[in-house]
Amino acid sequence: MKAAVIGAGIAGIASSVRLAVAGYEVDVFEANSYPGGKLSTFTDRAADGGLYRFDAGPSLFTMPELVEDLFRLAGRNPTDYFEYIRLNETCRYFWDDGTRLTAWANHDRFAQEVESVLGEPGQHLLDQLADSALKYNVTEKLFLQKSLHKLSTWIGRDALHGYLNLPKLGVFGTMNAANERRFRHPKLVQLFNRYATYNGSDPYQTPATLNIIPHLEYNIGAFFPTKGMVSITNSLVQLATELGVRFHYATRVDEVVTAGKQVVGIRATQLGTELIPYDLVVSNMDVVNAFRKLLPKAKQPERILRQPKSSSGLIFYWGIKREFPELDLHNIFFSNDYKAEFEQLFQQHRLYDDPTIYLNITSKHKSDDAPPGRENWFILLNAPNNTGQDWDAVIEQARQHVIRKLSHVLGVEVGPLIETESILDPRSIETRTSSSQGALYGNSSNNRFAAFLRHANFSSEFDNLYFVGGSVHPGGGIPLCLLSAKIATDLISE
Ligand SMILES: Cc1cc2nc3c(=O)[nH]c(=O)nc-3n(C[C@H](O)[C@H](O)[C@H](O)COP(=O)(O)OP(=O)(O)OC[C@H]3O[C@@H](n4cnc5c(N)ncnc54)[C@H](O)[C@@H]3O)c2cc1C
Repeated sequence: MKAAVIGAGIAGIASSVRLAVAGYEVDVFEANSYPGGKLSTFTDRAADGGLYRFDAGPSLFTMPELVEDLFRLAGRNPTDYFEYIRLNETCRYFWDDGTRLTAWANHDRFAQEVESVLGEPGQHLLDQLADSALKYNVTEKLFLQKSLHKLSTWIGRDALHGYLNLPKLGVFGTMNAANERRFRHPKLVQLFNRYATYNGSDPYQTPATLNIIPHLEYNIGAFFPTKGMVSITNSLVQLATELGVRFHYATRVDEVVTAGKQVVGIRATQLGTELIPYDLVVSNMDVVNAFRKLLPKAKQPERILRQPKSSSGLIFYWGIKREFPELDLHNIFFSNDYKAEFEQLFQQHRLYDDPTIYLNITSKHKSDDAPPGRENWFILLNAPNNTGQDWDAVIEQARQHVIRKLSHVLGVEVGPLIETESILDPRSIETRTSSSQGALYGNSSNNRFAAFLRHANFSSEFDNLYFVGGSVHPGGGIPLCLLSAKIATDLISE
């Protein structure tokens, strides 16, 4: 049996591994000349020849066992391919008024920190993390590991557990409202509201159910792959290749060819006009573009395709010719008005003038990512979806805002320290990975029905067509993309 996978994003690669293990002959077609989609890498060279390496997209690694599962499934030892460390510090937080707070992986130490820095009872933090664990345990088996679009998901023990615990899930209130009830200090509310951005949503709209996200970071743990985030991609491509998967780079699929209720193959202009026949097709392309561009004659599930998208991002990759001991791997510089920032993003589709800045520095743990005495700064701002804004002007202004804010908080003029610069914006995210409107995580979760308004991992029209990746169930981010591959390939084996 022959299977085609369209796209070598993380979900496409994981699907190819699972299909190869199940005995399929697998071809992966990737439009770019490299694998990984958003999870890729590049380097910039300074005038004196110094080399900076950057992970292009994801920087926070959670749930490593989902990566390891793929090696085990193939009968391999994960550590022969892929290594990572657990972080003691989850993130350093900075505010303009000089407040600095470290989120420690150790709960008691973190509780002491919020007590001493913010005067917030440490117990409030411990309660929040326990609530996060409870929400996760109720939803994991029901919402994350199975198709929501099969009746079997809604009957049985896991479903009953979910129904009984529904009132605890926070479906009816917002994340911000729940966090305001829990915490006295607005800075801690802001800190926990930030987790809405982990799937590109707005904490003032998204349901409190999304308070499950901190569970991944604090209860399961935050990790760092010792060879960089891209080693997730590279190690899985190596595994897939060893299993016989064939990767065809710089090969864009232009059509999924159908006959009746079946998909019969694909067409890729670069490979000629001939139909390339397959027994099944797995699309890792953003589902909106998959329907609009590859399946224009199929029934278009308009309600799902028109759902509001998650936020996008504006990323500055800077080579910085100095070291900052007060910074760690993950750092946040908060906006002074979080509510206004999200109103601008989601209602006005504008980047806020005092944006929250996420600063990731992999050279803190992987010293060869920057020349000695220097650092590779990955700066991510939450950005609105691409709706045709004047991005060049937006970028120019944002650059000034970021430099001003970082210089103020760090007490050093940052501008003159930048010796290399690359930029990724919602336009380039869209063109490089075919993501509709440059969304980082597919649909937003800004309403309580969002989980049900993501496309299923299978096609309701064609028996042998499947969908994986951040734009379909269960959603965006590396762990969920890996789970989408598991759900789709489980459905295939059924
Ligand atoms: C800046 C940024 C920061 C992020 N931070 C995090 C983070 O810290 N942690 C986290 O877990 N997640 C993060 N994410 C989200 C995460 O990167 C994505 O959810 C995930 O990588 C998406 O994987 P995917 O499998 O959906 O495929 P994508 O990465 O979207 O790749 C899809 C691939 O399919 C290819 N393709 C599309 N159409 C075709 C076609 N017709 N023919 C051939 N090939 C095609 C594209 O070229 C692309 O390579 C971040 C994303 C970005 C951009």
